[in-house]
Amino acid sequence: NSISQQGSDDIAFHMHPYTNAITHASQGPLVITRGDGIYVEDENGKKYIEAMAGLWSVAVGFSEQRLVDAAMRQMQTLPFYHLFTHKTHEAAVRFAKTLIDLAPVPMSKVFFTNSGSEANDTVMKLLWYRSNALGQPNKKKLIARHKGYHGVTIASASLTGLPGNHKGFDLPIERVLHTTCPHYWREGKDGETEEDFATRMAADLEALIQKEGPDTIAAFFAEPVMGAGGVIVPPKTYWEKIQAVLNKYDVLLVADEVICGFGRTGKMFASETYDIKPDVMVLSKQISSSYQPLSAILLNSRMFDPIADESNKLGVLGHGFTAGGHPVAVAVGQENVNIIRERNLVQNAAVTGAHLQQRLAGLSDHPLVGEVRGVGLIAGLELVTDKAAKTALASPGQLGTAVGRKLQELGVITRNIGDTLAFCPPLIINAEQVDTLVDAVTQALDATQQSLRS
Ligand code: PLP
Repeated sequence: NSISQQGSDDIAFHMHPYTNAITHASQGPLVITRGDGIYVEDENGKKYIEAMAGLWSVAVGFSEQRLVDAAMRQMQTLPFYHLFTHKTHEAAVRFAKTLIDLAPVPMSKVFFTNSGSEANDTVMKLLWYRSNALGQPNKKKLIARHKGYHGVTIASASLTGLPGNHKGFDLPIERVLHTTCPHYWREGKDGETEEDFATRMAADLEALIQKEGPDTIAAFFAEPVMGAGGVIVPPKTYWEKIQAVLNKYDVLLVADEVICGFGRTGKMFASETYDIKPDVMVLSKQISSSYQPLSAILLNSRMFDPIADESNKLGVLGHGFTAGGHPVAVAVGQENVNIIRERNLVQNAAVTGAHLQQRLAGLSDHPLVGEVRGVGLIAGLELVTDKAAKTALASPGQLGTAVGRKLQELGVITRNIGDTLAFCPPLIINAEQVDTLVDAVTQALDATQQSLRS
């Protein structure tokens, strides 16, 4: 394929995130020009099912006029104002109230930020600030999980448990620890049941807390379903056992619902799906369908009250972002939540999601499929070439990349996380579109299988 003028200008002038700069210079970018429902179109007019909803984020599809109108109305009345030093604006107040009403557990306050990374970074700072306010200056260590993903700022990349986010950056920082990844299919021992595996995961967490000293651990950060680590669904009884350990040692729970929130797992929040009772919830992506950059932190009273207590002598909270709670972003967030509710998109994620899971499960017997996993409208297909050994081609990610490329040729954009293909389509997807998507996946697997044989 020849590289267009836009493509070569991109190579010349633009540095990309999550891109190998060397291969980018030779292969060039896929230039996306417009969106329409669950589809996007490239500069040559080729249409793709966006099976990742962009970056796990566009709940209402790529052409929702109501979000455009909401942004325009806000632009015309108050295009910008901030929330520093006792100022506020209607759009932020309204959306904060909406989020508190929507939360699956009693929450006290909302703090607005602009990205998932900023939100997690802010939670880390607020936890440290809270410990200082409480006169517990040693209670500052944070535990996350191997393969967890929480962002890329210095602090949130440290929480992230993927080597690729640490390599070359001298991370993680001190105070951040990682416990085991609850991927039963890959990490479970011979003869170990899913429940026994969950017991072992909770024991690993407890052992780490005891080793470090319970009085030094402030919080545990986790995605209810791990996204960027490869769509890893928690094993049965995992969350109840983990929460029992956290309660025993007075460790706060931060649920990173950046991917899972706003219907993805078939409930409004995955904390409902898995009966999680977080002290802090981190929300972004589908909060605004990513039409505007926006994230929100929900804090319960256990988290917030010490910060607002008369005994806190730290004074003004020295933290906040110019664009945090930007009026246009929160107005779009509000309208996006209205649409999710009015169109029953959470219900659609449950029903059409069950169809997606069932269709993908039908691929389990394919010679290249190791594990099919997922819940609601999020799924992972882990590819292998040797089913018994659970291994793929010698070079990790090579098989995933090959199938992903084939899918792109067939008009489906997905993402291969190593050798796992991730699926996270817009919540507006219907059963027929799911069928088209899974048919293309089948075709891509067959074609790859053929080319491996020859
Ligand atoms: N947390 C989770 C669970 C995510 O999946 C992501 C992004 O993919 C982030 C945090 C970071 O969000 P952002 O890319 O907006 O900084």
